[in-house]
This record gives sequence, C-alpha cells and structure tokens, in this order.
Amino acid sequence: MQLYTKITIGLVLGVIVGLAVNLAGFTETFAWQSVAMPVMDFVGNAFIRAIMMIVIPLVVASLTVGVASLGDMKTLGRMGGKTVAYYLFTTSIAITLGLVLALMIRPGAGLSPEARDSLAGEFAEQAGGAVGIADEAPTIWETLIGMIPSNPVAAAAEGNLLPLIIFVIIFAAAITRVIPSRRETILSFFHGINDASMVVIHWIMKTAPYAVFALITVVISRFGLEVLQSLAIYAGVVAIGLILHATITYGTLVTVLARLNPINFFRRIREAQLIAFSTSSSNATLPVTMEVAQENLGISKSTSSFVLPLGATINMDGTALYQGVATVFIAQVYGFDLGIGALLTIVLTATLASIGTAGVPSAGIIILVLVLNSVGLGAQAAAGIALILGVDRILDMIRTAVNITGDLSCAAVVGRSEGEVLITGNPKDATAVSRAG
Ligand code: ASP
Repeated sequence: MQLYTKITIGLVLGVIVGLAVNLAGFTETFAWQSVAMPVMDFVGNAFIRAIMMIVIPLVVASLTVGVASLGDMKTLGRMGGKTVAYYLFTTSIAITLGLVLALMIRPGAGLSPEARDSLAGEFAEQAGGAVGIADEAPTIWETLIGMIPSNPVAAAAEGNLLPLIIFVIIFAAAITRVIPSRRETILSFFHGINDASMVVIHWIMKTAPYAVFALITVVISRFGLEVLQSLAIYAGVVAIGLILHATITYGTLVTVLARLNPINFFRRIREAQLIAFSTSSSNATLPVTMEVAQENLGISKSTSSFVLPLGATINMDGTALYQGVATVFIAQVYGFDLGIGALLTIVLTATLASIGTAGVPSAGIIILVLVLNSVGLGAQAAAGIALILGVDRILDMIRTAVNITGDLSCAAVVGRSEGEVLITGNPKDATAVSRAG
C-alpha cells in the first residue's frame, strides 16, 4: 500500500473516532482525559517534533549544495526574482478571491446578534491573548533588520528560517570562490548531511499514518460542533475560496507554466498536503514538501532547496485568502462598511501580513489583528477574533495545505522555467514513480 493511502486512512479514521468521542460526550470521561487523550497527544506531538528536528539540518545542507551548484549569482538572482514575483502574484489573487467571495456571499449578514455575542463571550480570553501578541509585532524596519542574522547559529537555534536562509545563500555563494580541493570537501560534507536528512525523513514518514490519526482524533474530539453550526457560512466561504484557489489558480499555473498535468501534480503532492493538513504548520511540513518536490516531481535540489524554505516562510496564500474573508466577515457582523479604499488596503496589508506570518499553527489569526487595524477595525479586533476563534483550527488545517501547495506549484514553475525535466505521469503508473529507497 502506498504511504499516502495509509495516511489517508489514518486521517479518515481520526475523523470518525474524533466525531464519535465528541458526539458521545466521551471527552469528559476519566478514560479519555487521563489515558486516551494524553497518549494521542504524545503520539501526535512526537511526530511533529521529530519532523521539526530535521528542518534545520535539511535546509542548511540542501540550500548550501543547491546554491553552490548553481555556480553563479546571476542564476540565483534570476531564480529569486521569479520566485518572489510568483509568490506575490498568487498571494494577491488569493486575497482578491477571498474578498470577492465574502462580498458576494455576505457570510456576516446571517449571524444573529445573540450567536455573535455568545461566541465573542466564550472565546474572549484567548482572543485577548492573540491581540496582545499582535500588538508586540515588530515594525517593518525591525523585520528588515532581523533578516540579517548577527548570529546564524542563534537564528538556527530559534528556528528563524529567513535570516538563516540569507546566511546560507551568502555562505554557499562564497564556497564557489574557494579553491576546488577545499570546495569539494565542504560540498561533499553538506551532500552527506543532505542525504542523511532524507533518510531520516523516510523513517519518520513511516510513522505518519499513526501520527495523523492521533492528531486528527484530538482536534475533532475537541471541536465544538455547535460553534461550527453558527459559523458554517463563514467557514464555508473560507473553505470554498481555498479549494477554488488551489484547484483553479494553481491548476492553471501548473498546466500553463510548468506544463504538467494538474491532476497528476496534485496526486504527486498528496503526501505533503496531508501532513500540512494534519499539523497546521508549513514549517513542520517543510521536510516532506522538499522530499515530495525532489522525489515525486523531479524538481532539482537547487530549485527546491531555494524556493520551498522561502515559501514556507513568506508564501501563505491560504492565510491571505482567509484573512480577506475574515476581515469582511467581521466588518459585516459589526455593521462596518468597507469602501474600495479599505478593500485595496486589505489586499496590500494581507499580502504583507501573510509574508510576516510564521509557518506555525494559528499564526494567521494573530496577524489578522494587523489587517483589522489597517482598515479601522482595531476596536473590534478582540471581539472579532473571539468570534471566529472557534472554527479557526479547522480552517488553519485547510489553509496550511493550500500554503504548501502554493510553494510546490512555484517550485514546479521555476524548475520548468530553468529547463528542468519534471516527472509528469500518474503516480499509480509504476514506471512514472521515481521514489528512492
Ligand atoms: N498555520 C499556517 C501555516 O503554517 C499559518 C496560518 O496560521 O495561517 O502555514
């Protein structure tokens, strides 16, 4: 059985068991609270920690080898330009799509004032925490200066990917200037680290079906189904927007620019999407995203090791789309009119906000505060966030899957534009699968 089939089974079983536990009111029992749930939490978190463990060695090693093998800075600059242009373009499409859907369907119009106040009251404390964190967000200058790491080891230790990427690119470019005998030594060292990291990922992924089962069971069992009822239209608009963006926007770009069959593209990246969905973290999914890009799509190490870590850090189309819908929803609920100026402000701030959003669970809702502030909804931010918090986890799962799909579509497009030969066939067709190990 293929790995993604096993992971899908884990996911479906997780939904079934989680729902059963939830509906039967089993969550309050001693057996659940003290035995089953801690065990599931342990299994899920152990997987996330194990996969996070490999992010830094993998990014450093594969980016070093990738950039050094490009040979010159001109190629790197060209690739960087294409990548950033693609990311900005797709992010602005994502927000626009979110705004158009939210303005057309008007999810905020259907929410009764009683439902609004009861939801806002129930999640007030957590929402206050999110607003507090957002208030401490760095300014644009602090963000820019933070991209230059004064200590790359500290950046790595804190899991701060962007400054680390910048250091590695500079260092790898320098390696190309070192005398050949020493250059070979350094590169062969990093090659080894990269290969060993891939082996570790294969090992960890063997446990993915069980971890996904545990993660999903816990999320679904905790879920307030009544909350979903009153926010169904809002959650539906976000989900529909995300699905449309993934299938239509990426489907078209992958077909036209990467010349891949879109269905086979989606089939080939399922594993990464399932892990993103289950962990709600682009960062934690990064090793799987890189593995899928190189082994299932045939994208080169230099392209994938440059485009994907950057994407996990700055490209969040799903998050941007969600922030657009959430802002319009909160404005509608509180009877706030958004003119064309405000809508353009949302496009601009949500693009910047999604760049600043870390690839970790729930980061998007914290950064949403900045988007709300930018259109004068700052006074409603705490209540507005409290309102949507109840369904945020489930939307986080879908938007994270979209975020990494965007990264992979960019890697395919950039790879193809650099003349790479990608794997295009149906993965079911044994001859088309080029899986190592
Ligand atoms: N969880 C998302 C990610 O890691 C970020 C967000 O909260 O939207 O991609």
